[in-house]
Amino acid sequence: MSSYAERLETLANEAADRCTGCGACFAACPTAREIGLDPGPARERVGDLVALTRGAAPGDDLQRWLGACDGSARCTASCPEGINVRQWVTIARLKAIEATRATEVGAANAAKRFRHMAQSVRLLASMQLPSETLRRIQQPAEQRRAEVLFYTGCNVLRTPHIVLNVMDILDALELDFDVVGGPSHCCGVYQFQEADLATYERIGHRTFDRLGQSGAARVLTWCPTCSKNFDELEKDAAPPSFDLGHVSEFLVDNLEALRARFRPDQPRRRVVVHEHLGIGATLDSIRRLLAAVPNLELVELPQDSGFSYACGGQAAKFKAREQAIHKALAEGAVAAGADTIVTMYHSCHRALAGAEALYPLSVVNFTDILAEAMGRGGHADFYRLYKRGGAMDEAVAAARRFLEDNGVAVSPAAVESLTAEIFDETGLAGDRAAFAASFGALAREA
Ligand code: SF4
Ligand code: SF4
Repeated sequence: MSSYAERLETLANEAADRCTGCGACFAACPTAREIGLDPGPARERVGDLVALTRGAAPGDDLQRWLGACDGSARCTASCPEGINVRQWVTIARLKAIEATRATEVGAANAAKRFRHMAQSVRLLASMQLPSETLRRIQQPAEQRRAEVLFYTGCNVLRTPHIVLNVMDILDALELDFDVVGGPSHCCGVYQFQEADLATYERIGHRTFDRLGQSGAARVLTWCPTCSKNFDELEKDAAPPSFDLGHVSEFLVDNLEALRARFRPDQPRRRVVVHEHLGIGATLDSIRRLLAAVPNLELVELPQDSGFSYACGGQAAKFKAREQAIHKALAEGAVAAGADTIVTMYHSCHRALAGAEALYPLSVVNFTDILAEAMGRGGHADFYRLYKRGGAMDEAVAAARRFLEDNGVAVSPAAVESLTAEIFDETGLAGDRAAFAASFGALAREA
């Protein structure tokens, strides 16, 4: 067993030692209910979790619970002992998979998932970003020398205007910062989820080490999955040399500096934030940041915010539930007289951007609003154009320019795969035919 695996074992054993077996965590778990597990025998289920942690084989109901986990952290929030139950469940899930499946099977799954993600992130980023910016983001982390490192993760590069917004905001704050990310700096989520711990250590664990080697005093995460993994599977396993936290929390720490830079002539907006709990103080931070923007009114809307920590990812296992959450959000926002839905994360942005085709609403990320309030931002949100399914001329013209600049050719097969990915993802969308036809024509030119 590697020393890293031993540290994970220690974290799980500490949780089991502290657990009183009250069952509140299991009783609070939304996905356990979603898959039909009875909340009645909550103490028994947690007893199974303790037994697995101590080396027993996992039973069927425990495996179903662990396999359904979408990381909502409702268990952690409900634990009277202050145990990080989500972390415990994540490590226990790894053990349960190791006990029931050959490592090679998980390794092959993880490699396939990583390859697919890396290909589509590279293509989408090359359609929307100049080569100079992409190169800057992908430079090795250990070669950076800035005080603040903005770590993007991989998937936000599908909606790169968000990265550009954050860079604009950090720049306007006159910080010594740099940006790093892309698949060469993956957080290793697929390998961990598939219980390929050896490869995880060479990917996610190594990325975390590389961030430390840069000498940065503070690393800002963007992606909720990277934030959760680095916080619970790295920082808690061995404290890093840097402070770690989400961009939104860092911006709240600098709220007065931001406020001083906000321009008073902002458009009047009535906004509903699409809410998720589960990642630190992100929701509270984003609400506080938006509340400071001139002429912006936050509209309160009761939401199903405790189901998963973000759209997509593990939550995508529950498509119908996610779809219902998105529809209720858009309809509720319209009924409450809001004109804008604000997304917290990139996966939510992808899921909701197409609402513009169906409802009288704009969909923007919170970073769009902050950057614009500082007189920056204004970066085209091409993904939203794809998802709206209307006229594609602007998006195609930009893609033609950026693909050439990046030396990337797009094939008809790649456009077909991208169309499926963009429009089959749970969420709200316009007509997929507009994207398929316009980008199919671009591919045939290549
Ligand atoms: S993190 Fe959420 S889904 Fe996972 S076990 Fe805890 S409550 Fe259930
Ligand atoms: S809520 Fe906390 S103390 Fe109670 S069973 Fe769950 S982990 Fe143990």
